[in-house]
Amino acid sequence: MPCPGTLPSQHEDRSVSKNTVSSQLEPDLLRGLPLHEALSAWGHHWRNDVTPMSYALSRPTNTFDGFLSHDWASSGWLKFLSLLIIFNSGAAFWSCLVVSVLVGILRGYGCLPDEHWTVAFGHFIYFFVFFFWQRLQMPCRQSRMMFLDKVCVAQHDDELKHKAIMGLAAFLLNSQELIVLLSSRYFTRLWCVFEIATFMKDPERRKRIRLMPLKSTVLLLLVSGCWYLLNIGFNTTKLVFWDYNSSETESSFVFETVAAIVSMFIFCFVLLPVAFYVGMEMSEDMEVMPQQLRNFRVQDAKCLCCSIDHRDPITGARLPCDREVLYATMKEWYGGDAAGDEGDYLETFSTLVREKLAARVEFLVGGFTLPMKYLVYMVVGSSVPYLADHVALAISWFPYLSGFDLFAWMLRDLVDWGMAPVTSLLTAQTCLPLLKLGLQLRWNDSKCCRWSIAFLLTFVMSIFGSLIWAPTHVTFATIDSASP
Ligand SMILES: [Zn+2]
Repeated sequence: MPCPGTLPSQHEDRSVSKNTVSSQLEPDLLRGLPLHEALSAWGHHWRNDVTPMSYALSRPTNTFDGFLSHDWASSGWLKFLSLLIIFNSGAAFWSCLVVSVLVGILRGYGCLPDEHWTVAFGHFIYFFVFFFWQRLQMPCRQSRMMFLDKVCVAQHDDELKHKAIMGLAAFLLNSQELIVLLSSRYFTRLWCVFEIATFMKDPERRKRIRLMPLKSTVLLLLVSGCWYLLNIGFNTTKLVFWDYNSSETESSFVFETVAAIVSMFIFCFVLLPVAFYVGMEMSEDMEVMPQQLRNFRVQDAKCLCCSIDHRDPITGARLPCDREVLYATMKEWYGGDAAGDEGDYLETFSTLVREKLAARVEFLVGGFTLPMKYLVYMVVGSSVPYLADHVALAISWFPYLSGFDLFAWMLRDLVDWGMAPVTSLLTAQTCLPLLKLGLQLRWNDSKCCRWSIAFLLTFVMSIFGSLIWAPTHVTFATIDSASP
């Protein structure tokens, strides 16, 4: 969506050579914004009004790595955080993994104090890379060039703005990928729908539409936030208990169990109900989108010019209709075959959206899982720094073990660490089905009802998490006492 308005009114008498959105644009107007600028100042461009200074940040380019498609009314913070998850969460996860193993090795060989607090290095690197990866990679590779309408179209100059909007297809057709920051409002806006239409017309380009529902971002942040706090709570509690007791191996099981119970208690009765309460609202909003797409008709999408009867609210001047221009362009793209059978081009496009896109959106927001790749990066990432403890411990056992004994011990150490990430991943996967169950169980819309269901879901989730974690933990405690 290029702007929250219409084609500028001063151009109503301008004779546009072709009454369609052009795929040609003057080179100086074909402008992109480096990703590090799009994410600068904690998403400043997404949250604030643009100025002529903003336009100066964009630069002429021939191609775009991504076209950032969004509706202007949805939360700027969520769009910013969604882009961090898309572009930075993978790098944050792998950097954290490498640093945590390195910290473990340095601890094992005495280059760092062999103390639990050193896991903070892993946590630090995760968050540092998550927020700043777009800048950290700049010395090694050119920043990705993105199209962001607020900055790459001269919003302060009516003539330049008109030209850029009339050449919007040039931005879209020169973009490698369409990154859709999806909200329940997105498919109700005609300009957003037009951007999708540009990529839907070609089967190859259709594969390059990347959908990121903003509410999935909220759920991912909620789930990963809960697991971060649980992991920190569990390990801090364990540390405190350890300090007050002897460090005999036999007692570790008791301390870990007490730590687990205390942190689980805090987790269950403080964090989870809040997460489920907020999550139910998000989930409810997400359920609207599959329904919208199953009944999608491009004619139902709205644009501002039609809603204000094509009159400038300040000057009263007549405004040209965006819909006419966009329909004319879509007629060129979806107007029928070479034999001249034009057909109903609007219905052709609407059917394509209902058949090809609805299923993808339904899988993302109406299915039973959150995007797996991002779940691993965001949720499992919370357990990775603790790998340092296990690597350091393994190195300390090297002089006493060899051959199969060493292999078996290392395998057991790895599984011991792996309990937390596996439990977090499985419980995160059950999050969406539980939220849907919660929505079904509501007997009214009161806060009291929502809190009651949130506590019920907390109970179910706690039982499920315990069933995964407890058997492995007890098994390890038994093996510990018989180990070398
Ligand atoms: Zn109109």
